Amino acid sequence: TVAWTARIPSAEAMERLGERLAAALQPGDWIALTGPLGAGKTTLVRGLARGLGFRGRVASPTFTLVHVYRGRLPLYHLDLYRLEGEDALRDVVDPGEMEAAGAVVVEWADRAPRWIPADALWLDLAVDPAGDGRRVAARAGGDRARRLAAHLAH
Ligand code: ADP
Ligand code: MG
Repeated sequence: TVAWTARIPSAEAMERLGERLAAALQPGDWIALTGPLGAGKTTLVRGLARGLGFRGRVASPTFTLVHVYRGRLPLYHLDLYRLEGEDALRDVVDPGEMEAAGAVVVEWADRAPRWIPADALWLDLAVDPAGDGRRVAARAGGDRARRLAAHLAH
């Protein structure tokens, strides 16, 4: 069920959305991003990292699979665009280790849906058919994600 939707008119507004969500992030939170190339997923992650106080470069870890940005809490950034089957993930990243200390955000999360914890906040991004902006729809998998979605809604 969709918990929240919005039209995000610009890249700057997308980054601000990430910054706003970052204020509510706690260790153990998972954010699963979906949407085609160019939908604004990495832009949103940049806002999350900035909102946590990270000042370095934020780019998709397309080949390395995971980047970590160390701010108020560590943010693990995954991009599954080139993932060849969910098994490849198991050898590279340990979900327990990531979520014990930090929050996790995954681009192309729909490439490994069974690997994503049930209580993730899913954010589906799409180009707005009515203009240059984007549409964002939030789906909450459980109470933890509902808390994040509620933060977006207020
Ligand atoms: P993705 O990671 O989904 O492929 P990016 O975050 O790299 O997408 O963004 C692709 C392009 O879209 C960038 O030029 C970015 O500045 C722009 N962009 C991001 N969000 C928006 C938005 N809400 N409205 C308009 N342009 C946006
Ligand atoms: Mg990207």
